Amino acid sequence: HHLPAQPVTCIGECLIDRLMAPDSLTGTDYPGGAPANVACALVKLGRAARFLGCIGQDVAGDTLIQRLQAIGVDCQGVQRSKAPTRQVIVKRNAMGERWFAGFSHSDPSGFADARLSSDWLQLHWSQATAGLVMGTLALAYPQSRAAMAQAATLAQQHDVPIIIDINWRPMFWPNPAIALEIIHDFLKQATLLKWSQDDAQELLGTADPEVIARQFPQAKAVLVTAGAAGCTYVAWGQRGYQPAFAVPSQDTTGAGDAFLAAFLCQLLERGWDSLKQPQQVAAIVAYASAAGALATCQAGAIAAQPTAAEIAALLKA
Ligand code: ADP
Repeated sequence: HHLPAQPVTCIGECLIDRLMAPDSLTGTDYPGGAPANVACALVKLGRAARFLGCIGQDVAGDTLIQRLQAIGVDCQGVQRSKAPTRQVIVKRNAMGERWFAGFSHSDPSGFADARLSSDWLQLHWSQATAGLVMGTLALAYPQSRAAMAQAATLAQQHDVPIIIDINWRPMFWPNPAIALEIIHDFLKQATLLKWSQDDAQELLGTADPEVIARQFPQAKAVLVTAGAAGCTYVAWGQRGYQPAFAVPSQDTTGAGDAFLAAFLCQLLERGWDSLKQPQQVAAIVAYASAAGALATCQAGAIAAQPTAAEIAALLKA
């Protein structure tokens, strides 16, 4: 604890979710993208984070960067592109489940987040990093995928743990089999994998963390979250389950990202070897679950992310 904590590097997409009102054409914009969400959540919990990704040179892009910077995320590694910042239309069905609609741009790879370049990555990579958190949407596009592969290689060369926050949105990918094929090389390199139950089922045909851990034996932990049904996990071959905290949920957007950030924060504080001790893992997952639960109590992913004090209060209650 004598050295300042190294920042976590979060790489990949940063976009705007436009959440449409149920019965009109009006919407509210929320900054998002899993790696950007995780970066913000980490900072909120007191851990330094930097975001590496490509954002458009437009009003939406300026807004995103201002938002991340206001929270305290280091944005020096943000590449800007003439391609527009991605904006995703989000609607809710009668069950309150979200679905993601249409593009505001005809060519999906024409958005800025697809344009992160290997040259930029090489210039802005810093090996002084406590972990590399990768989103998966930016892996759908060849150029950003190459840059992220470069980041993964650099991370491995410098013993930086790789954490993958899997977010599969059907509209970004041709089909689940192709999506899995594309991200498989990255999954094989991960030290920590975080799946949501539905994505795991869709892409791997199983949501059992033990089965997943056998497919990716290099991962020291596999976390499978299931919203209000809690989290099942495996760490060093030991299985566990943590029920969700009962909270007045309003909007589950970003719960998984807040969960992962809180998990990682605790893990970095306790050390990766704590994953070998089931009691420690249980405490870390409980902490992460409290963070995930609190993130559902307000609209939007980033605005709803809890502080360490709020998590501590829920754990005590
Ligand atoms: P994702 O956003 O990746 O789909 P989940 O929705 O599974 O992630 O949420 C991650 C974690 O956040 C869950 O395991 C749970 O601990 C917590 N969480 C999510 N939704 C709720 C909810 N409605 N009530 C309480 N906790 C929740």
